[in-house]
Amino acid sequence: MGFEINRFTGEVDDELLCPICTGVLEDPLQAPTCEHAFCSACIHEWISRQPTCPVDRQSITQLRPVPRILRNLLSRLSIACDNAAYGCQAVLKLDALTSHLSECEHNPKKPVPCDQGCGLIIPIDELKEHNCVRELRALIHTQQQKIQDFQQEINDQRFQLNEQKRELYILKDFMRAMRVSNPSMRALADEMERDEVVRWSNSLTRARVTRWGGMISTPDDMLQAMIKRSLSESGCPAHIVESLMERCHERSWPPGLSSLETRQHNRRQYESYVCKRVPGKQAVVVLQCDNRHINNDMMSQPGLVMIFAHGIE
Ligand SMILES: [Zn+2]
Ligand SMILES: [Zn+2]
Ligand SMILES: [Zn+2]
Ligand SMILES: [Zn+2]
Repeated sequence: MGFEINRFTGEVDDELLCPICTGVLEDPLQAPTCEHAFCSACIHEWISRQPTCPVDRQSITQLRPVPRILRNLLSRLSIACDNAAYGCQAVLKLDALTSHLSECEHNPKKPVPCDQGCGLIIPIDELKEHNCVRELRALIHTQQQKIQDFQQEINDQRFQLNEQKRELYILKDFMRAMRVSNPSMRALADEMERDEVVRWSNSLTRARVTRWGGMISTPDDMLQAMIKRSLSESGCPAHIVESLMERCHERSWPPGLSSLETRQHNRRQYESYVCKRVPGKQAVVVLQCDNRHINNDMMSQPGLVMIFAHGIE
């Protein structure tokens, strides 16, 4: 729809009017043969019903932009702001209207925060009718609806998850049975598990322990749970998480590490451990696959976890 002609100051040439809405052309397009110009919205609506020019009935197959001279003439017209009725006195060049409207102080739909404390942002013209309690109740209602939808989604997914778990159990049982009954299958499965550990180890960064004295050799359950979680998140293969975590406490460490005395005695050997960082934690894993050079007295299968108060780089 074009601009109402009485919003303009001064004469407006007839060439600049839309024959459909009789307003001043807004976002104009022209018919290619007869060159009649129309507002984009007006002519699109028109040709959706009949593909002919509304002025001379010539057929219209395609619309094209109007010549620059027409656009220049339009942009030089002076128009009153859309919000003149709400007190805006501004008169602007047509091409400056859009940017003025986006910040016009008199826009009745300008969003403002409610000053009675509900925290909602509302159009300025709805402020008078605004009722904090009513609005907030409506908000709670829609949010409850959303929560219900989410709950439903969670239930659906939980159901699917359980189905998948069941299938996984069956598959695992089957693999276990294959492993027991078929030696070559066993060898293959063992090899796959070993590869998985090596791949995980390669994905971790090498760590350097600068203060072996900061070692926590008897971590409590909470600390252990935290480290276990980080291990899982780092992609630690499921079949070694438990056994690794069992070996994070001096009571299940190999003989060379099992007490303060033996640890002090073997201090030299720590230096040659290949340690990998447990991501984000002051802890390292010392995996057997990285430490074939360490003697059995100082290593266990599949490896050790060592937690520190500080001193990991
Ligand atoms: Zn029009
Ligand atoms: Zn025409
Ligand atoms: Zn204004
Ligand atoms: Zn309010």
